[in-house]
Amino acid sequence: MKLCFYLATKNKNKVIEVKDIIGDEIEVFLPPDFIEFPEEIGNTLEENAYIKALHLSKYIIDEYIVGEDSGLFVEKLNGLPGIISARFSGERNDKKNIEKLLKMMEKFKRKEDRKGKFITIACLLGKGEKRFFKGEIEGIITFQPRGTNGFGYDPVFEIPEIGKTFAELSLEEKNKISHRTKAFLKLKDYLINKHKTG
Ligand code: IMP
Repeated sequence: MKLCFYLATKNKNKVIEVKDIIGDEIEVFLPPDFIEFPEEIGNTLEENAYIKALHLSKYIIDEYIVGEDSGLFVEKLNGLPGIISARFSGERNDKKNIEKLLKMMEKFKRKEDRKGKFITIACLLGKGEKRFFKGEIEGIITFQPRGTNGFGYDPVFEIPEIGKTFAELSLEEKNKISHRTKAFLKLKDYLINKHKTG
């Protein structure tokens, strides 16, 4: 039977990215429509990823469940927006979150003072598993938003080696290098190896 997991999110952008990253070998299912996820109350990405997976595991029995939490951690802001990335401005609004971030970064004029990294934690639950997979990518916070693809902070996160923001890359290009890709490829390898040997 084909390997599969349920992704504990309502974020359509994440679903699109994760399906593209995972490819055909593992089927990615969405939670049933009626399920609402609790507010993210954990103190770490690990806790939040676990809380999301645990919530879905109450409805989906005997299947793998994956909870995912990500955030942007900016060096000079002591790791902000961090685990509150989604609601940094006080609401779930990408444009306002970016505005607040750029405002806080105004005093940092040199590129080396604008370093940040995206981190993703994926938590695998179900079938006796409780396992975490981490992915991260370093970049520079731009002075102005650039590009229209992606979501969240993509327009202000530049990959120095490429000179483009995530939002200036296609989904395929972003998915070759992103934090989410690194975490989910580790998870994919783990599941495929486990089912080869076991
Ligand atoms: P959560 O993982 O749904 O809690 O959301 C984390 C927040 O981090 C998102 O709402 C975005 O603002 C931001 N974020 C996470 N991953 C990405 C990404 O790949 N690009 C841009 N922003 C992201």
